[in-house]
Amino acid sequence: MRKLPRVLVVEDEASIAELIAVNLRHNGFAPTVAFDGAAAKREVEAVLPDLILLDWMLPGESGTTLARHWRQQGRTKGIPIIMITARSEEGDKVQGLDAGADDYITKPFSTQEMLARIRAVLRRRAPEAIGDSVHVGELVLDAGTYRVTFRGKELKTGPTEFKLLQYLMRHAERVHSRAMLLDKIWGDHVFIEERTVDVHIKRLREALGEAGSMIETVRGAGYRLSGSALQEPK
Ligand code: CA
Repeated sequence: MRKLPRVLVVEDEASIAELIAVNLRHNGFAPTVAFDGAAAKREVEAVLPDLILLDWMLPGESGTTLARHWRQQGRTKGIPIIMITARSEEGDKVQGLDAGADDYITKPFSTQEMLARIRAVLRRRAPEAIGDSVHVGELVLDAGTYRVTFRGKELKTGPTEFKLLQYLMRHAERVHSRAMLLDKIWGDHVFIEERTVDVHIKRLREALGEAGSMIETVRGAGYRLSGSALQEPK
């Protein structure tokens, strides 16, 4: 079974490193944190990450020095690296990319921007690391490992609910009629009543727990899965 993509976060500001790690964990990644270059090198020696998020300004060796170091080693030269910096000057960007970074994020950045860049770099450099995963907000479905997680916590779904969720997530924000869902999930050669869909939607919502509110009933039309429909518990 494929594991969650490992991301090494190299960042000396503990609060930022922790925030990044929490957000990664909630979104289907396995983060580890290193606060300086020496710790980062030890981490990489112990286990190769799928991607490194590398802060530019570090005590001791700078981010660019580390990136160059890893690019020169046969074992580590293929690891995707995204540099993080507080500076947005064009010269810095060029220097970062010259040092071997695949991409560049400027502080302050949103979680969504960070995740989008990580996924884009992984899709390009290590597609096997992200495989068949679909993300809607903090809900992640991985068809390769047959796993559904919400905020990093694994959820148990039955096989039909899994297929239903996969379809709704791949076509998020769109409204699907019951007839359409029957056709897509059960196949048009099977004669099942439309209320069967309601039964499985109910089971799916229960399986999703807190994330169940992401599946909206659209009166007279059908169902929709929406990241913005998530209701936070009061
Ligand atoms: Ca720093």
